[in-house]
Amino acid sequence: MDRSPDTDAVQAGHYIDPETGAIVPPIHTSTTYARDGEYEPLGDHTYIRDGLPTFDPVEALAARLDRGAGARLFASGMAAFSAMCESLNRHSHVVAPQVMYYGAQSWLRRLNERGDIDLTLFDQHDPNAIGSTIRPGETELVWVETPANPTWDVTDIRAAASLAHQAGAFLGVDATASPVTTRPIELGADLVFHAVTKYYNGHSDVSGGLLVTASEDERWEEIAAVRSASGAIMGPFEAWLLLRGMRTLHLRVERSSESASAIARHFEGHPRLIAVLYPGLESHDGHATARAQMDRGFGGMMSLRVKGGHDSARQVATSTKVFVPATSLGGVESLIEHRAAVEPPESIVPEDLLRLSIGIEPVEELIADLEQALSS
Ligand SMILES: *Cc1c(COP(=O)(O)O)cnc(C)c1O
Repeated sequence: MDRSPDTDAVQAGHYIDPETGAIVPPIHTSTTYARDGEYEPLGDHTYIRDGLPTFDPVEALAARLDRGAGARLFASGMAAFSAMCESLNRHSHVVAPQVMYYGAQSWLRRLNERGDIDLTLFDQHDPNAIGSTIRPGETELVWVETPANPTWDVTDIRAAASLAHQAGAFLGVDATASPVTTRPIELGADLVFHAVTKYYNGHSDVSGGLLVTASEDERWEEIAAVRSASGAIMGPFEAWLLLRGMRTLHLRVERSSESASAIARHFEGHPRLIAVLYPGLESHDGHATARAQMDRGFGGMMSLRVKGGHDSARQVATSTKVFVPATSLGGVESLIEHRAAVEPPESIVPEDLLRLSIGIEPVEELIADLEQALSS
């Protein structure tokens, strides 16, 4: 039987040190690498900004998990995202969703205001929106985030890839639920983005980003060149911690997804809620697409819309005893966030929306905690 990507992850990329037999890769802290008598590098590395031996097993495993041809680590999700933006042609047309991770959208808006790109935002609730905003021959990047922050709208990756490719554009996907559930390259995407600060590392103690490519093309070389030149690289200790986190990625994502499904089903129709937004619920607009393109669960992220608007949502977010009131997501601990506190003024995210990141605590405790916070 072939080794699965899960087994490779558990075994740190099937690592065995040929000299020592160690089954965990070491942390290489050297910033520079010696050359031989011919002045050729002794190994595969020369200088830290071009990559470290400690990155190699992590990038190889990340490419394997997403079924890609290569992967690159960055110092943060945003460093990875901005390296991708930097690799675009000047003044190129970019299509992105109206509701997506706020930091990434504000970076695109900034580039648009500076005239570096020409940005069109599409309404992801309209299935024809990508098709009508794309400009054949002119659009370079179609960007989608699925399920999208913080409403968990689902975009059909296969359909988006076909529209992008017909127009001569490439499709980049922020796959928020991790490759355990969604592997965009298998569905036709050209580039996958992960904020590894979230599920990949999973312990809320490493900042990192990752790009995975479907093929080692010119764009990929350009992205690698941007990373080396701009220097937004991860530190060796962080890369090592990240690999440790990745060893349990599938367990954590499966557990979070199971608990999130149970919580969503429990609270759907709750008298204090307007809505439970979770792609695993049949009532969710994107459920059919989610079923088709997500396996092993619908992810650990959901949002609740609380009756009574801004103030009642704030009351709930400050009344939990197990859920920690904090931003971010994808860690082992459950978090609750009142998005109105952090969304920009122009945001279309409702003021009554609470974003939940479901961790791996016993699900009965999480349900009981939300029940008591909702009755506070
Ligand atoms: C956190 C996050 C990012 C940005 O990653 P950082 O590591 O915070 O820079 C981008 N997209 C999504 C969906 C995220 O959750």
